[in-house]
Amino acid sequence: MHALFSFEYKAYLSPFKYFPYFLAETIMTSLHTLRNSAPKAYPPLEEITTCRLCPRLVEWRETVANEKVARFKEWEYWGKPVPSFGNTNARLLIVGLAPAAHGANRTGRMFTGDRSGEWLYRTLHKFGFANQPESISRDDGLQLIDCYITATLHCAPPQNKPLPEETRNCRPFFLQELEALKNVLVIIALGKIAHDAVYDSFISLKKTTLTKRPPFKHNGNVLLNERITLLASYHPSQQNTFTGKLTQKMFDAVFQRAKTLLSAR
Ligand code: SF4
Repeated sequence: MHALFSFEYKAYLSPFKYFPYFLAETIMTSLHTLRNSAPKAYPPLEEITTCRLCPRLVEWRETVANEKVARFKEWEYWGKPVPSFGNTNARLLIVGLAPAAHGANRTGRMFTGDRSGEWLYRTLHKFGFANQPESISRDDGLQLIDCYITATLHCAPPQNKPLPEETRNCRPFFLQELEALKNVLVIIALGKIAHDAVYDSFISLKKTTLTKRPPFKHNGNVLLNERITLLASYHPSQQNTFTGKLTQKMFDAVFQRAKTLLSAR
């Protein structure tokens, strides 16, 4: 209240002195609103959540949802394809592998409800890409900031291992997203499969100047075209984080690089 009074008082005394401030504030607010308005999913929610193109995955996601595990016995599992999460105006795109059987396949939101998600959202929050460090359920208030999360596959595969034809079936959703995400400047691929899928998709869309697939290397970076940088990270799976193949420091380094690249634009 005091600050408001003080500001109005000063503005009354010298209105034009504060004009640049108003202008900058208005522009920044508009940009922020554009990037972070109500989260939207693309492709359209219904199109993706009703997809049954991969019989093996349909059976697996529904069996897991019916049988559950003891610790989530009270949950009503999602058991459908998991839509992407975030806003299509975002500049940072995260690409994962696929929903986890008792994580996103249970909660219905990407990387939500499993250990990988704990790592990812904690880190996104640390670097200002999420409003809170935890992602527990679809109604927990989490919002991404200038960030959009998708995966190469929208259904949980058995043993986290999709078949090549399942990845091919799901690719059109990913291609549609890449076309729709007009503001993306940095892509973080979590794991080699996601990394290669990004490159292959850019080739199919004729959106890269690279002529061969870049090698996957943690914290590696490559310019896909004159605008977009692809960063690589080991996937924050339990297998990688428990064994120390991926440490928090290593994961932070990738997000710090993304932040630095975006700040420079
Ligand atoms: S993995 Fe993709 S293509 Fe296959 S059933 Fe799920 S949403 Fe459809």
